[in-house]
Amino acid sequence: MNGIDLTSPPALPQAPTLPQLYALSPAASAASRATIAALYSHKSAPRWNHPAGDRLTHEDVARLSVYAAALDAGRGGRAPRPDDAVLAWAQSRIAATPLYRGRVADGIDIASHWVELPTTAREDIASHAARLVPDDVPLDRMIVYRTAGTTGHALLVPQDALAVACYLPLLNLALARYGVNTRFSSGDTACFLVGSQRHTVTYPTVMFGWGGAGFAKLNLFADDWPDINARADYFRHFAPRLLTGDPLSFADMLEAGIGGAPHALVTTAVAMSPALKSRLQAAYGCPVVDWYSLTETGPLGYVCPRGPGYHWLPHDVYIETLDEAGLPTRGRGEITVTGGRNPYIPLLRYRTGDWGRIDFAPCPCGDPMPRLMELEGRVPVRFRSGNGDRIGTQDVATVLRRYPLVQHSFEQADDGACTLTYRALAGAAWPRDDLASELRALLNQTITLREDAELGRRGAVDKVIPYVSKRIEE
Ligand SMILES: [Zn+2]
Repeated sequence: MNGIDLTSPPALPQAPTLPQLYALSPAASAASRATIAALYSHKSAPRWNHPAGDRLTHEDVARLSVYAAALDAGRGGRAPRPDDAVLAWAQSRIAATPLYRGRVADGIDIASHWVELPTTAREDIASHAARLVPDDVPLDRMIVYRTAGTTGHALLVPQDALAVACYLPLLNLALARYGVNTRFSSGDTACFLVGSQRHTVTYPTVMFGWGGAGFAKLNLFADDWPDINARADYFRHFAPRLLTGDPLSFADMLEAGIGGAPHALVTTAVAMSPALKSRLQAAYGCPVVDWYSLTETGPLGYVCPRGPGYHWLPHDVYIETLDEAGLPTRGRGEITVTGGRNPYIPLLRYRTGDWGRIDFAPCPCGDPMPRLMELEGRVPVRFRSGNGDRIGTQDVATVLRRYPLVQHSFEQADDGACTLTYRALAGAAWPRDDLASELRALLNQTITLREDAELGRRGAVDKVIPYVSKRIEE
């Protein structure tokens, strides 16, 4: 998940109107509205298919500035134990959250018993999301987001507009470390979020983490645009200062010779190949900034400009690594997160499924926050349909998320045949044959479904890789 995608379901295509887009940006000034209108109605604009906006009120915009200031002030060395702020937060959320109250002994001193506190995982969000919502948070502003399918099976994650908007100060901090200026005014085009899939939602809006400047979520897929030159014309005309996207979309953008003159490319996938990164840097003449962000946790790290490793980004989370026995380790372990800004899913020792090591030693770049080293990411994968089309993991994910799967691994063999190994939500009845035929229609390949009730439950040796291609690419 790129983190600044404001998409929420239902994802059925619905061309937004300008009044709908304005209504989703309640803090927009006349100048910001003019920016939305310009992005929306340009002659080369793509077909928009989704109404979205950051939903921030004027009060939220003020709170966002407070968060940005706290983020700057909160940078400093960290110890391999939770600090007082995290402990106080955890104590309060354990008391308020039904799932945690049931799992943590009453009156326990969490500072001295931290390592005995239960961990949580994706499965808790998939199976007990309602019990993760604390009793004391108002529900009237809850928005439900889907996670991107590239990071395991899609989850419905309840979110809050302000918590989502806090991604931007985090991103701005990372970009500042690369010398990229992220001060914008309402007439600027701050960022295009670039996708390249058969189906993805698209919309223009403005973002108040960027001074009410323009933002558009775009799909490079040619069918979305009025004519063959429209994509390049649109990028050239608006010249967004930042481009965000996954490595495969950037590779397609490069191949199509578009992208304008960005000051930075930002990618959230950990697994961008060094070769692609240096080609993008050369082609666009700007830094390519990797960051590590999950929908459940928000942004966690950005790649150190001096490398290697990802600096711990938010001041308001505690990151620890757990070994195969579930105990904190100074070596490689599962990246586990406590804290954050999402009021509806307070993360208590949330196991991300990613592995790495935390280096607390000072870094030559000057950022005092520790680094996540040897971060084992998820390798971007693309499949081939029987007709020779490239099919992205997002397209497969769009099909899979219609079914109650908790974990899955979708693998394409060298001969093109595909196998979906899955663990379904316990007790759910659903049409297996429909899933097989939808996958067959998408890929035009042989599809085998294989149920595995223990998938992902066999401990560290059983890290589930959601998408695998064994094809030897030409
Ligand atoms: Zn550094």
